[in-house]
Amino acid sequence: MSDIERKMASVQKIAEIKPIEGADRIVAYRINGWWVVDSKDKYEVGDYVVFCEVDSWIPHELAPFLSKGKEPREFEGVKGERLRTARLRGQLSQGLILPIPDGFIKVEDTDCTDALGIRKWERPIPAQLRGLIKGNFPSEIPKTDQERVQNIKIEEYAGQSYEVTEKLHGSSMTCFLDKNGEFHVCSRNLDLKFDENNAYWKAAIKFNVEGKMRAAGLAGVAIQGELCGAGINGNNYNLGLDWFVFDVYVVGEGYMAPKQRRTLINSLGLKHAPVVSVDSQLTQDIPTLLEIANGKSYIAECLREGFVYKSEDGSKSFKVISNEWLCRYE
Ligand code: AMP
Ligand code: MN
Repeated sequence: MSDIERKMASVQKIAEIKPIEGADRIVAYRINGWWVVDSKDKYEVGDYVVFCEVDSWIPHELAPFLSKGKEPREFEGVKGERLRTARLRGQLSQGLILPIPDGFIKVEDTDCTDALGIRKWERPIPAQLRGLIKGNFPSEIPKTDQERVQNIKIEEYAGQSYEVTEKLHGSSMTCFLDKNGEFHVCSRNLDLKFDENNAYWKAAIKFNVEGKMRAAGLAGVAIQGELCGAGINGNNYNLGLDWFVFDVYVVGEGYMAPKQRRTLINSLGLKHAPVVSVDSQLTQDIPTLLEIANGKSYIAECLREGFVYKSEDGSKSFKVISNEWLCRYE
């Protein structure tokens, strides 16, 4: 399996169908928390289908119509197209529904990403960010990732209190002081060689992360945050190089609970991702969570990408990406 924790394509059931005002040939189909616009009468409620999430890279043969008669684009040597958020006749459409191929098992959530040659599209990384590779991401710590609210069973998350932080749209950066006392600076997937010209190392040096972690005796601890600044993912925030912590992981123990993490980050003099609320009971349904994810960033005059919810006991988390933001920037 490629480096995806997230299932880009899976077997799902059509949960609901709704008409679109002013349109008689298309309707909106619901899959879990997602709505997808497609031709009317193509599927019925309860039908098994393959559902591909936004940011899937769809090989051309699978859905040639996505290229709209033009030459398909190319990503990692595969001709095809990226699935983006769209609005048709005012109806949000996210992802792609495909009829289930013959021979596929009709079991919900079955991953068919690899079977269909689908990949997760990723923005190409600019040269000054890429860096020289020291090795793979340290195996003792988890890579940063969050499940989308549209894919979770919200009932299983409700009735607990959460910390809500702003989801920043930069690049994931982890600083890790291992048990042997070696300090690592890592991007989302890689351990990076020391290099003063690399943006991740530049930030680690700028904020003296190594010195601070050593002084606090944090061997076996990883501090994870979002690197933002010029050249990084569009930098809508118009920031100089900046690093906003959102997680602390203790090897052998797990993620630090939000409150403890915030106290630690504060005492180290590092910046934390904007904290929107703490200890708030999760009572909203998915459409409401999506609605309140829309709005301005807390760090700059631009839209926010969304929110990340983390339970106060450190056991559960998910992300809610703003559809307003997706329509504007993606
Ligand atoms: P995505 O970039 O959509 O795959 O979402 C997951 C990523 O969001 C993580 O890998 C982090 O790099 C990033 N992220 C940004 N802000 C936060 C935050 N406040 N809490 C957790 N993750 C965050
Ligand atoms: Mn991201």
